[in-house]
Formats: sequence, structure tokens, C-alpha cells
Amino acid sequence: MNAPFIMPVAALTALYPTSTSHAGRPRAPYQCLDNSKIKKLVIVFRNYPSDPANADEYWRTIKHTIQDLPTSLRSLIVLATSTDASGKLKPGKLCTHHNGLRADLIYSIWAWVKHELDSGIGIFLYPILVKAGLPMLQEWKVRQLEPVQRMWRRDFDALEQTPEGRQPIISDKWSYQENQCPACMLARIGSDTQVLSALYAGMVGRYSSKKVGKKDKSRSNRVNFIRYLLKQSDSGEKLVDESWDLGKEMKRVREGWREHQRDSVRVNFYGRKSRSSISSSSQPRDSCILINTSELFDLNDNVKSFADPQDSSFVACSANTGCTESGIGVDISDLAGTGKPLRRSRLVNL
Ligand SMILES: [Zn+2]
Repeated sequence: MNAPFIMPVAALTALYPTSTSHAGRPRAPYQCLDNSKIKKLVIVFRNYPSDPANADEYWRTIKHTIQDLPTSLRSLIVLATSTDASGKLKPGKLCTHHNGLRADLIYSIWAWVKHELDSGIGIFLYPILVKAGLPMLQEWKVRQLEPVQRMWRRDFDALEQTPEGRQPIISDKWSYQENQCPACMLARIGSDTQVLSALYAGMVGRYSSKKVGKKDKSRSNRVNFIRYLLKQSDSGEKLVDESWDLGKEMKRVREGWREHQRDSVRVNFYGRKSRSSISSSSQPRDSCILINTSELFDLNDNVKSFADPQDSSFVACSANTGCTESGIGVDISDLAGTGKPLRRSRLVNL
């Protein structure tokens, strides 16, 4: 019996150079975009009208913008209608305003944008907001992502999206998108600088430094797509710079918090891990990770609103330790009893 013929992977890669990644997995359409195509595509996702009176003019402009795109970004077949009898969008289709775009490309972009807004960035942000703490203004900036899910979730509950001890962000900007067209939702997001700034900062903070690369030369098409969306807004360059810095700051804060978490794990005689107990009152309070916030906000007024009130390991250093620097202190004084060297006030600059 003859052995089946198997074409070598190298040959397949040569035949389909843009269809698979280095790992052999099929590449999503957005991964095949170069920067010049991304710059052209993001023009479709700006200036979404908040006032319905401007809608007709807006859609006329969008139609021409789509017609001017390179053919690789456009659909070869434009259907007269992409909805069923009930007015619902057919699977994999775009609304009649956007159906000149390549649907598979738009859906591939929407998949990761939605993932970031559903939980990707939220999981990254939670310990930063609730455990480590951010200055009030920065926290407010990144929390702008909370209400966006309302666009695709009919059961959206603002309270569910709100970290402990905070007030929910109530916004009527993100009403449910009736047609659920991903291009329409991308256009609404792409026209909102607050959400774009938070999204960009969250991705820069969450992704590995290797993936994010440099501010003006990212290796990630996802990061580049959001950066170009933000860049085309008013004061776009400035917003990109500020959001990049915020993302990097959040990465540093989270790494400082994780380092503290690792240091606080003790291994007992049987090799079992346990968290060290919360500091006792007999221990000096001058051993802490200090997140220096002195230039950004007044400690006495704000520190309680950032630290988790249920977690007594978070203390206002100046109030309890006599520290002269302003900050949110994470008490690690109990490490003194573990045989580990006692570290005093490791400083995490914001
Ligand atoms: Zn649409």
C-alpha cells in the first residue's frame, strides 16, 4: 500500500504565505493588514453622529469613503440587503451602510475588540484599581470602558461592571446597537476618544512589552489599529502619548503588586503554600511597598477611596508609619518572621 502523499509544511507556507501564522495556525484577516491599510481602514470608523439629524450626511460620506478604499478592504459582492425579514442582520453580514466593506475582515477585528471590552482588559485592571490603586483621574479614565458592553448586551447591569467601593458609570452614549453590525459598533467606539484612550492604555498595559513594541512602531496589528483610530481624533497625538504613558504606568503598578503577592507566599514544612497573615499590630508599619503618588493627588483626601477597605494590608503610609512620602503602602512587615530579609519601602513610581 502506498503511503499517503503529505506536502511539506514549508511548501504549504510558500503556497499560502499570508494564510497561516508562523505556528501554522490560520491567520485572522486583520493580521494580514499592513500599516498603510490600517490607516485607510480607520477612516471609516470616525465621526459617528451622536445627533440623528446628522446621520444622512454621515452615511453619504461613509459610502464614498468605503468606495475609495483599496479592493483588499472591500467586499467583492455588495448585497442590496443584509437583513432578514425581521430586520435582523444575517450571520456574517454587515449592515446596508457598511456592506461595501470586507465582512470577514471587520468581524475578525470586532472579535478581539469585543474580547478586550468583555473581559480582557478588565481582568488586567481589577487588581490595579482595587488592590494597588490608581490616582482618581487615571482610574476615571480607564473606567470609561465599563459601560461600553451595553451596545451588545441587552441584560447589561452597570452595577455588575463596577469595582467594589465605586459608583457605577452611567452613560447613555452606549445604548444597545439594534442591528448588531460590528462595523457600526466599531464606528461608535472609534468616535469616542475617552473609550479609545482607555482601550489603548489597557492594551499597552496588558500586552507583553515584546508584543506592544515601541509607541510609534508596534508589532501588534491590534495595538496599531487602536492607535491609528485614536490618532485621527482631535488632539490625537497628545492622547496617544498620554494613553501610552498610562498603560506603561499600569503595567509597572501591576508588576509591583504581583511581586508583593509572590513575596507574601510562604512554604511550610510540607511544602504547602500559604499566604502570610495580615500584619499584626506589634509589627512596625515601616515595611511596605510604597506606590509614590505624591505628585498626583493628595494622600489624605484620596487614599481611602483607592485602597480596598476590607484589606488591612493596604495602609496610608504617612498616617501609620511616619513615612514622609505620600503613597499607598502595602504592608509586608510580616515577612520579617519568615527568615527573608526585610525590605523597606520599595518605591513604585507612577
Ligand atoms: Zn453597520
